[in-house]
Order: sequence, then structure tokens, then C-alpha cells
Amino acid sequence: MLYRKIPKSGDELSILGFGCMRLASKEDGSIDEERAARQVRDAIDQGVNYIDTAWPYHMGASEPFLGHALNDGYREKVKLATKLPSWLIEKREDMDHYLNTQLKKLNTNHIDYYLIHALVGDLWDSVEKLGVDDFLDKAKADGRIINAGFSFHGASEDFNRIVDAYDWDFCQIQYNYLDEKNQAGKAGMEYAASKDLGVIIMEPLRGGSLTKTVPQAVEEIWNEATIKRSPAEWALRWVWNHPEVTVVLSGMSEESHVEENLRIAGDAHPDSLTEEELQLVKRVENKYRELMKVECTGCQYCMPCPAGVNIPLCFEMYNNLYMEDDTETLRFMYAARVGGAVGAGGGEFASFCVQCGQCLEKCPQHIDIPNVLDSVVSELEGSDLEQRVAMAKEMFKKV
Ligand code: SF4
Ligand code: SF4
Repeated sequence: MLYRKIPKSGDELSILGFGCMRLASKEDGSIDEERAARQVRDAIDQGVNYIDTAWPYHMGASEPFLGHALNDGYREKVKLATKLPSWLIEKREDMDHYLNTQLKKLNTNHIDYYLIHALVGDLWDSVEKLGVDDFLDKAKADGRIINAGFSFHGASEDFNRIVDAYDWDFCQIQYNYLDEKNQAGKAGMEYAASKDLGVIIMEPLRGGSLTKTVPQAVEEIWNEATIKRSPAEWALRWVWNHPEVTVVLSGMSEESHVEENLRIAGDAHPDSLTEEELQLVKRVENKYRELMKVECTGCQYCMPCPAGVNIPLCFEMYNNLYMEDDTETLRFMYAARVGGAVGAGGGEFASFCVQCGQCLEKCPQHIDIPNVLDSVVSELEGSDLEQRVAMAKEMFKKV
């Protein structure tokens, strides 16, 4: 495991952080606590010392899960990060209420890295007005938090002013080879690093969309590489190649993910990719841009939808339609997966959208969700939807 330093605290953090937003889960979607705890502890045993969670992850179950998983001395081996749910804050006292509740849920007396969660420009203005700087100063002074930071999903023009608005120790931004110019982007990352902030990266695989179903055209480009690597390895190495990056968070739900990520984190030095390799990644990026219809990362912030639409799943299937060359199979799989024949849930179709607009301000990617859902309906639903759902249920029924 390689380690990089947070400039202000001097902490040497593992370049791989364990993200607890997409933990190993059971069929009903709840956390598979035994398996996930084994994975977390295994990663710590092999050098991971940064664990990241947040109030809403796994519908509130991620923090209490870690409260148990880090028993038996594991808490002392790691720097623990969690986040203030900024969108729930109505008054100054709410900030202490959430932090104190999180300390209990996490079964700890301090948070090593505490973030104001998912800031965009307006949200920052609101929590700043409510006294977030006073809250952070006091929580640091009384030892409930050690380092103060923020995570960001807003527009690039708001990033620098938030960096400048408080004496932050670190920030967390979305960054991968498709997001160099999205949100904080490369410019924001460089600005934060120039101000001595540690930079934690989330969504290095864009919610898995860079690895789950790799289009044939993209695979052909990867195959041209002299050193063969998986799409996940290319994506992670590309992020770690930046010297400004301190930690890359990876949501690891399979043992194979933990194993692969640990191996890569053993030698992913800054500036280690060759010019030829960087060009290859650039060509993959361009190919994805040609193929993708909607830039959804699957973060789930838009959920739950009051009308029951499974927005990220609808968008995943919609993108797959354009990234794979098999329309009929994709239309069938839309019915199977969104209809609930495969996996948890069921009957959460794009056509359930009543255009209420509630999801719009929650989406960090600023996707025009109701409009894109209209396109999903016209391309993936149609009069034979019920028939496809019935067929899928028959095909995937449990015996
Ligand atoms: S606009 Fe549609 S998808 Fe968004 S919350 Fe309302 S019903 Fe759900
Ligand atoms: S639509 Fe937006 S908020 Fe919803 S999962 Fe996709 S990126 Fe996240």
C-alpha cells in the first residue's frame, strides 16, 4: 500500500480509501453485514487506513454498520470520515445534533475527517449563513472532529469560493477521466491542492459505469495497450497519476474488488503513466462521449422518487442501450431489471414519472431527469412492456 500526506495534518493516508456507500448487500438491498465487515477488516489488515461513510448511505445503515465493523481494535487503526447532511440543516443547533448522533452511531468519540456533505453553491450559502464555520471551529476545539472538509457536487464556478471561505483541511470531489471538466474538475483539484488541502476523490469509476458493461468499441481501444489492464485498473491508475490526489475512494462490494484495488494501490505512483498510456485513456474518453446518452453516476441522491421511479436504474439501462449493440436484449433486460424479475424492487418504470421536478435540485450532475425519463419511456417501454415483464418473471423465477 502506498501512502500520501494530508498537507495540514501531516497524516499519511493510504491512497486507497474504503467507501461505504455501496457495501456488499443482500438480495433485499440491506447490507450483508458479515460479508461487508470481513471485506472492510481485510482491507485494513492490508494497509487501508481511510474509511468513508455518510449519514444517508444505505438509507442510514452505513454508519451504524461501521460502528460494529470497526470493533475489536479496528477503529484505532483507521482515520474515519463521515459527513454532515447539509441539506437537512435548518438551524445552527441541527449541526451539533447530527454530529453528536453520528458519533453515537459510529460508536466513537471523534471523527477524524468530517465533511459538509454534497455542497453546491446555494447549499453552501445556506449553511454558511446558519453558522457552519462556528460549528466547525467549536467541534474541532472540543475534539469531536479533527479535520474539517467538504464534499462537492456543484458547478465549477462555486468550488474556488468555497475553498476560500474557510480554513479547510481537505475536500472531496468527483474525479475520473470523464469528469476532468465536470463539477470541480481538474482546475478545482489543482486549486485545492495549491491551497494545501488534501484531495479525496470519489466516483473514480463513475459509479461503476466505466467498468460494468464495457462497450465493444471501448474494449477494442483498451486491447491496444502494451500492458494489459482491466478497465477499473486504467480508471484508478489514471486518477492516482495526479500528484494532487491524496486518497481515492472505492466502493468495494466484492472480494475481487478489494483484492484488485489493493494490488493496484501497491504501485500507483504519481506521474507513472506514460504519454502513450495517457493518450489511450483519452481515446477511451472520447469513445464514451460518443456513446453515452446521460451522464448519470448512479449516486442515488435523487432517490427516493415519490412516484416510485428507479431513476438511476432507468438511466443505467438507457445508457446500456447505446453502449451495447443488442437492442432487443436491452429492452428485455429493462423489463426484467426495472420490473423486478432480477434483483430487488420491481415496477419502478420511467413512465411512472409525474414530472413533479422534486429530483431536479438533488442531482449533482444537473441532469434534466424528467425529460430524459421521457426518452427512456419512448425507447425502452412501449405496448409490449407488460409482456416482457411477464416473460422475464417466468425466465428468472426462483425454483
Ligand atoms: S420528476 Fe419524475 S422522477 Fe423526478 S421525483 Fe418527480 S416523479 Fe420522480
Ligand atoms: S440522476 Fe443524478 S442524482 Fe440520480 S443517480 Fe443519476 S447522477 Fe445521481
